Amino acid sequence: MQVAAGYVLHIGQADGAFTVGDKVVCQRDQQRRQRILPNHTFTHVLNYALREVLGDDVHQKGSIVLPDKLRSATHCVTAPVLSSQDV
Ligand SMILES: [Zn+2]
Repeated sequence: MQVAAGYVLHIGQADGAFTVGDKVVCQRDQQRRQRILPNHTFTHVLNYALREVLGDDVHQKGSIVLPDKLRSATHCVTAPVLSSQDV
């Protein structure tokens, strides 16, 4: 999943070719989704925690969530001011 221009993008693979107006069927691999679920949830936990500590200027710019890893890109508009309790 990525966020671009305010839209949440889910990126996948397409078998075959299609054009505008074609009907498509989207399917998900439920077993793979179950393995990804904990990392997906942690993306939200991480984003929430960063906003709690650093404030509302924290914006998630994208993430890569896989069964065995999580990578999150976050942007903070203003420089964070951390106290010793935050570290
Ligand atoms: Zn989510």
